Amino acid sequence: MKDLQLNKEGRLKHFLTIDGLNKDILTEILDVAESFSTMPAQKVNKVPLLRGKTIVNLFFENSTRTRTTFELAATRLSADVLSINIAASATSKGESLLDTIRNLEAMHVDMFVVRHAISGAGHFIAQNTAPHISVINAGDGQHAHPTQAMLDMFTIRQYKKKFDHLNVVIIGDILHSRVARSQIQALNVLGVKEIRVVAPKTLLPQNVESLGVKPFNNIEQGLEGSDVIMMLRLQKERMTSALLPNEREYFKCFGLTEERLKSASHDAIIMHPGPINRGVEIESSIADGSQSVILQQVTNGVAIRMAIMSLTMQSKGDVS
Ligand code: ASP
Repeated sequence: MKDLQLNKEGRLKHFLTIDGLNKDILTEILDVAESFSTMPAQKVNKVPLLRGKTIVNLFFENSTRTRTTFELAATRLSADVLSINIAASATSKGESLLDTIRNLEAMHVDMFVVRHAISGAGHFIAQNTAPHISVINAGDGQHAHPTQAMLDMFTIRQYKKKFDHLNVVIIGDILHSRVARSQIQALNVLGVKEIRVVAPKTLLPQNVESLGVKPFNNIEQGLEGSDVIMMLRLQKERMTSALLPNEREYFKCFGLTEERLKSASHDAIIMHPGPINRGVEIESSIADGSQSVILQQVTNGVAIRMAIMSLTMQSKGDVS
């Protein structure tokens, strides 16, 4: 997938996965996002970088935060944005994905932002679309959610400055989470000290250690001395068999509570990609507490998506 994402000069053309991207590229995304992140405080909060460009949001799966922050990011870059309501589109009348893409291409669009329940959908579109079009993966099945991972990295850097001294723990449904996969890849590329994953055995992928993480089935042990705590929702829509007794039992064993939080570093930050399920994976008072940066993650989603959209368009040399 690496070659598909990068042009001949090694610049980002599409953004489909963190896999295959190096530290320089990830750091460039974070730096460009940082330059955009001060924008809302300024009087004029738009830049003309993508003026005259048309971006199509193609969301085949539900989304609140991701779709709206992509829309806002495109608007702040002065692009024209179309958000296609798939439920009401011809795709639901049996038109193939490729035919939908061909029709949109015929309207002279410049970028597709794609969310799809099937892993590899964004990759498939990138392989089959016109060469001048960039494709950004906004979440594909269980595979990847690279813009979420990058906004998480941005948030970590904002609060912790550097990556190399950090113990990061990811807690929850690792098995079905595209967010966890992308987070683990990004954390490894950026060189954190240790990545731990905490979940019941049934929600951990086989050979999870091969991803470069240390698995724990005990949440207190996993939290011990952690600097960054990344919580995940139970992806019930992806569970094909009974992998858990029930949510109450899950919270009892794996929920993040005030008591358990004492095992982490006193200045640990608590993150969650949303949507959060209060009382299932996280105690309500923690989600709203002083260590929670969950809403800051949402804010940072705009700047990160502006950075990724502008970098992929710049790689084609038709915007400066
Ligand atoms: N919003 C994230 C995703 O689309 C996380 C989640 O749904 O739990 O994968």
